[in-house]
Amino acid sequence: MNIISYDDLVQAEFINKFAGRQLLVSVYFIDGLLIDTGPSKMNEKLIPLFNDWKINEVILTHHHEDHTGTARWIQDNKKVPIYIHETGVNSCNNRMKLPFYRKMFWGERAPFEAQPLGNKFKTPNYTWDIIHSPGHSHDHIVLFNREKKWLFGGDLYVQSRPRSLFAFESIPEIISSLRLILTYDFETYICSHAGIIPNGRKVIKDKLAYLEKIQQAVLSMHENGKSNRKIRKELFPKSHPMNYFSLFENSPIHIVNSILK
Ligand SMILES: [Zn+2]
Repeated sequence: MNIISYDDLVQAEFINKFAGRQLLVSVYFIDGLLIDTGPSKMNEKLIPLFNDWKINEVILTHHHEDHTGTARWIQDNKKVPIYIHETGVNSCNNRMKLPFYRKMFWGERAPFEAQPLGNKFKTPNYTWDIIHSPGHSHDHIVLFNREKKWLFGGDLYVQSRPRSLFAFESIPEIISSLRLILTYDFETYICSHAGIIPNGRKVIKDKLAYLEKIQQAVLSMHENGKSNRKIRKELFPKSHPMNYFSLFENSPIHIVNSILK
């Protein structure tokens, strides 16, 4: 675990290793606000931090298990409100039916009670815009800190040039959400997996340009009569171990399918 201080922001970063795969995941704490709770697999390291931090409330960027895994512990032990976008409230109340590989990778996610977010949120020193930004998940939000001009992006970014996608993700929705966040005046982008990115605006613009190019390519190949499988083979010929590991819940075919839907 790395604890990184960035001005008055604290980032707790964890390295998750499983079956030859490695992924970083972070939770952020600023001005009494905890942004995401981390996966239950990291409980032993997270709980001492949560006991140490004076948490007034929790905002979840979305319902996925690596962001909400310790929400139940917080609810039972800290008695603070936990907020999520209104379309995510139900998934928090219910047990999450996770594919086996995700259960093994991040751990289970116990149900908990979440409250719906509005468009704006106040902490003692800051005003936050809550921006609905679907594409990675239907309930995904990002948080814009007006005073700092920082954008907490959850899983909207994660990487610049994805060559594979989850079945529940959508390239056209991610494109719209990236365009939407670029209408906010941020420079620093703070990602749940890639960490703090000081030149975040440029990084987000680059990702948007990459996805727009992929979208154009897919659409024109489709117009030329090529099948989804053929398009996938031409644009993304290589498979990633993650594709097999996830039993194709993660696959390049979902990039093509989501564009042609
Ligand atoms: Zn996610």
